[in-house]
Parts: sequence; structure tokens; C-alpha cells
Amino acid sequence: MPKIILLGPPGTGKGTQAGLLCASIKVPHLCTGDMMRKAMADDTPTGRLVKPCMASGALVPDSIIIEVVKEAIRGLPGYVLDGFPRTVFQAEALSAIESIDRVVSIETPPEVIVERLSNRRICSNPACGAVYNLASNPPKIAFTCDKCSDVLKARADDNPEIALRRQQTYLKETAPLIDFYKAKGLLRPVDGTKPMEEVAISVMAAIC
Ligand code: AMP
Repeated sequence: MPKIILLGPPGTGKGTQAGLLCASIKVPHLCTGDMMRKAMADDTPTGRLVKPCMASGALVPDSIIIEVVKEAIRGLPGYVLDGFPRTVFQAEALSAIESIDRVVSIETPPEVIVERLSNRRICSNPACGAVYNLASNPPKIAFTCDKCSDVLKARADDNPEIALRRQQTYLKETAPLIDFYKAKGLLRPVDGTKPMEEVAISVMAAIC
């Protein structure tokens, strides 16, 4: 089973692509953003610790996220990591314990991202977490999740001010990972501006 990282700025469609990929190659989808949102919803000590970072669009401390991911990947023969690593420090910590097979970088320019984030809606049921786009992938019934019928909401950190901060954080902290994985010969870039189904085909081709 492959160990795969999906890289890309917030709003590039990483989560959607990770879900599709995991369903077709049958490996777990490990999304650190979802893990953090669940920890906050469950009001765990980690959730309380990361709340201010999440609310402001900043990254949560490396030490916290690295421990969460180490625990999540322990013993797994394969997985898709979505949202981790996000700093060179995290990537080095991961390299020290795991041998990654492929890093797929979903590339999308900022203007497309701004439009996507303003149209993104997620299911408010944390156990579902389905993601919609009001323009390209709308729910069948307005404000209602197709999968579990719960209410759809915009993500709190998708508001324009916080979304801009998350893009800036990506450029400063996460974009250097492209060169980090290129140097290791693991990087496969994919055009994220294409329709979801086409991107999924390119992602699949990139891991083969
Ligand atoms: P996402 O759903 O991937 O956009 O992540 C939402 C938020 O979770 C981010 O803005 C960070 O505050 C936090 N987060 C998720 N993954 C990481 C990570 N690998 N390192 C630091 N913070 C993270």
C-alpha cells in the first residue's frame, strides 16, 4: 500500500482529491485539519490548545501536530496525508520515521483559490464533513448535505481576511516543501484548475 502526501494551498481541492483517491486505492485519508476541527468540537485538551491558532488562520505548533500524526500513522501500511506536512520541520520529522512513496502537488493560482473558498460549504456534522462548492459541486438541496442531510455551512476560516492569512502562511511555511520533495525525487505536480474528475485522473496517474 502506498504512503502518499497531497500538497497544495488551502482551497486547491486537496481534501476532495484525497477523499476520491483513498476511496479508489483503499487507504485511510488522514486530514490534519479535520483532526484539529474534531479535537475542537470534542473540546479535548489538544482542541482547546489549538483553537486560537485555527481561528486566526495560523498554523498550530509543529510539536502538537507531529505528535497527532505520529499517533495516526502508527502501524498503517499505507495512507494519504492531507494537510501534513505544512512546514519543513514537519517534513523532516516525517522523513525520520516514514518512507513516503509519492508527493502530489495540486497547483492552483491565487485568483481561482479565492473564488473557491468563497463558494466552499462543508457539512456541519463532524462525522460526515462532506465538502461542496456552490458553483462546481452544489448540494442537491440548498444548505443540505446530500450524504447525511445535515446543514451545510461556510468554514469559519474561509472568511476573506482569514483566508488571505492562510494563503500567506502557505506561501511562507508550506510552499518550500515543493523544493524539499523535488530534491528527493518524490514530487509530481498536477494542474488543480481542471474540473474535479480530470484532476482525480491526473492524481491517479501521478501516483502510478
Ligand atoms: P486545513 O483544513 O488543512 O485547511 O487546516 C485548517 C487549520 O488546521 C490550519 O489553518 C491550521 O491552523 C491547522 N492545521 C492543519 N494541519 C496542520 C499542520 N500540518 N500544521 C499546522 N497546522 C495545521
